[in-house]
Amino acid sequence: MKLNLNIQPLESWIKTGKEPLLIAGPCSAETEDQLVATAHLLAKTGRVSALRAGIWKPRTRPGEFEGIGSIGLEWLKRAKEETSLPTAVEVATAKHVEEALKAGVDILWVGARSTANPFTVQEIADALKGVDIPVMVKNPVNPDLTLWIGALERINNAGITKLAAIHRGFSSYEKSAFRNEPMWDLAISLKTLAPELPIINDPSHITGNRDLIPYIAQKALDMDMQGLMIESHIDPSIAWTDAKQQVTPAALVELIDNLTLRKPEVRNVEVNDKLHELRNQIDKIDDLVIQKIAERMQIVEKIGNYKKDNNITILQVSRWDEILHKRTSYAKALKLSTEFTEKLLELMHSESIRKQTEIMNAGQEVPAEKLTHA
Ligand code: PEP
Ligand code: MN
Repeated sequence: MKLNLNIQPLESWIKTGKEPLLIAGPCSAETEDQLVATAHLLAKTGRVSALRAGIWKPRTRPGEFEGIGSIGLEWLKRAKEETSLPTAVEVATAKHVEEALKAGVDILWVGARSTANPFTVQEIADALKGVDIPVMVKNPVNPDLTLWIGALERINNAGITKLAAIHRGFSSYEKSAFRNEPMWDLAISLKTLAPELPIINDPSHITGNRDLIPYIAQKALDMDMQGLMIESHIDPSIAWTDAKQQVTPAALVELIDNLTLRKPEVRNVEVNDKLHELRNQIDKIDDLVIQKIAERMQIVEKIGNYKKDNNITILQVSRWDEILHKRTSYAKALKLSTEFTEKLLELMHSESIRKQTEIMNAGQEVPAEKLTHA
C-alpha cells in the first residue's frame, strides 16, 4: 500500500545544495538580540538552509516559558532581512498561521503535541487553504504512525504540496538515554508508504542531550533521511528552553563536519557489481530463512493439534525458557547479539502462540469487527 500524497520535491521550496540539508536555530526566540545574533552566526557557517525559532511554545506544564509570542515574528523578519535565511516557526492554531503568514515566515511546522490532535491539525489545515507555503509535520508525541500520516494527509488535502515530515522521536514508558525514543521503524514505515515525502530528522528533540546529537544525526543520514533540524543557540547555557540539547553555531559546524555523507545509490560500476553480488547472496539467504520459518510454523501447527487433542496448555514456560537459553547461547557463539536473538525468538514465539491459539479455539473466534477500532 502507498499513500496518496501530492508532494513537490524538497528542492522546490528550500535550498538543498548544502549537504546535509540543515534547518537550525534556537528552540525559542527569547530576545531580539539572542535571535538576530544567533541567526548571523548560523548564516556565517554557510551550512544552514533555514532559520528555525519557536515563537509559541507548547509546554507540557503551565508556568514554564510559553514563547515570546507575536513580537518574535518581528525579530525573525529582521533576522531574515539581515542574513537572507528563510525562516521557520511552529504553528498550533489558526491564529498562529494567520500571524506567521502576515509576518512573511517562509516555512511552517506542526509540533508533536499538535500532530497528536486531529482537531488541531484540521484547524491548521483549514487556515492554510489557498496558501502556498511549505509545511513540515512532526511525528506525534505517541508512537502512532497513523496519527502522523493523518496529519500529513489533512495538510496535503488543504492543498499544501510543499510538505515534509519531521522525525523527532516518540515518548516511551521505558527509561532510556534519549528524551524521545527514535523508533526508527516508524519513520522507515512512513518512508516506505510515501517514498516521495521528504523526512527531516530532529536529533535535538530525540536526544534531549547535545552530546548524543551526532550519533542520531549520523544514523538519520544513514537511513537516507533528507535533512536535519538542529537547535542552535548563541549561548545554550542560558537558553530559556531545552538548554541541554542546544549547541552553539560553532559546535554545530563541527558536528556537521564530522558526519559522513553516504549515497543511497552508487554510481561507480565496480562498487555496484560487488553490491549486486552481495545482495544476491542476501536474497538467497532471506528466501531460505523464510522457507525454514514456514517449515517451523507447520510443525507448530502439528504441535497445536497435538496439544488440543491431549488437553495440554499452549504455553509451557519451562520449554520457552529452554528455547531462549539454548538459542541465545548458540547465537552468541555465532556472534549474534543476545538482544537481537531474543527479539527474533520472541517474535517467532508470539506467532507460534497465535497460531496455536487459533487451532485451540477453532470455531470460537472473536468476530473481526469486534477487534478493530478507528
Ligand atoms: C520544538 O521544535 O522546539 C518543539 C517544541 O518540538 P516538538 O514539537 O518536537 O516537541
Ligand atoms: Mn525545543
